Amino acid sequence: TFKAMVIEDKDGKQQASIKDLTIADLPDNDVLVEVSYSTLNYKDGLAVSGKGIARRLPMVGGVDLAGTVLESASDEFKPGDKVVVNGFGLSELYWGGYSQKQKLKSDWLIKLPDGFSMQEAMAIGTAGYTSMLCVLALEKAGITPDKGEILVTGAAGGVGSVAIALLAKLGYTVVASSGREETHAYLKKLGASSVISREETMGKGRPFDKERWAGAIDSVGSSILASVIAQLNYGGAVAAVGLAAGTDLPTSVLPFILRGVSLIGVDSVMASKEIRQEAWARLAQDLDKSIFDDMITVEPMSNLPALAEQIIKGQIKGRVVIDVNA
Ligand code: NAP
Repeated sequence: TFKAMVIEDKDGKQQASIKDLTIADLPDNDVLVEVSYSTLNYKDGLAVSGKGIARRLPMVGGVDLAGTVLESASDEFKPGDKVVVNGFGLSELYWGGYSQKQKLKSDWLIKLPDGFSMQEAMAIGTAGYTSMLCVLALEKAGITPDKGEILVTGAAGGVGSVAIALLAKLGYTVVASSGREETHAYLKKLGASSVISREETMGKGRPFDKERWAGAIDSVGSSILASVIAQLNYGGAVAAVGLAAGTDLPTSVLPFILRGVSLIGVDSVMASKEIRQEAWARLAQDLDKSIFDDMITVEPMSNLPALAEQIIKGQIKGRVVIDVNA
């Protein structure tokens, strides 16, 4: 037997606990992987705390995993290959990375990107790979470092932390927006040139405000994203990636029709293999791994219920790697 964090129905509520499973319990997919590490993303927090992310029960949580192929019915992978999965409905529709072994579809797997250990790949995880998707989106929108300051909201979270490090390394001037004063030194160490509070980020709180940002990466949504849109420079762009403050967007068409700004949606879950490989190759090139020292904590699966509560309250700093064998 081996251990997995299983989400089940208990009296009409989803509840997660560690269970013993056997290979026969695993889904019928073509690649059997021995998992080394998974991670904690915001969505994992929602899933483990029973907030309805799992759409089939029982569900094994964990939207990411890194591990070694044990058996493969696919020509693309052979035993001994080190592989990574990010997203593709893991923890929603399909069993995920909070398990010492998992059977996965070969279509979901990529080879462990060059330049990263399995633990480092999970330190990046969906949150960090999505940060790179946001940077690529801004680049495609023509937002170059000379255009002006880039705002990163939800700065001390996983997506925010990696986004700051990437942008700073690429030569952008980064302003971090964080609700936690105690994270300011950390954010500057990651490369933020200054840090502002959530209140300051709101500006006048109007749907059309003074121009301030050449571009932005927003993992918060709701009125913060509306304020960011209101304060984009003429021709600016924001990559919208999250909903930590809510799914609503109280904005108006004015910034779009008077300043030609762009709101770019970013999705990591169903992104194509080509886009994933591009993002991981750019992470290998543009992420300074020395930031991991301040950014990562490694935790056992048994701590997941407590960690899940913390991430949905916005209390996690940086990235949490889950050692499924600890
Ligand atoms: P995280 O580590 O919890 O980061 C979220 C950060 O947002 C928090 O650390 C906090 O930063 C800020 N925040 C939390 N609650 C807030 C509130 N009520 N009002 C304003 N700010 C608040 O989570 P994550 O894993 O980085 O994910 C961030 C978001 O991106 C989540 O909504 C997640 O679902 C989304 N996401 C989407 C995709 C995609 O494919 N589209 C992929 C990955 C993640 P400060 O304390 O610094 O303010």
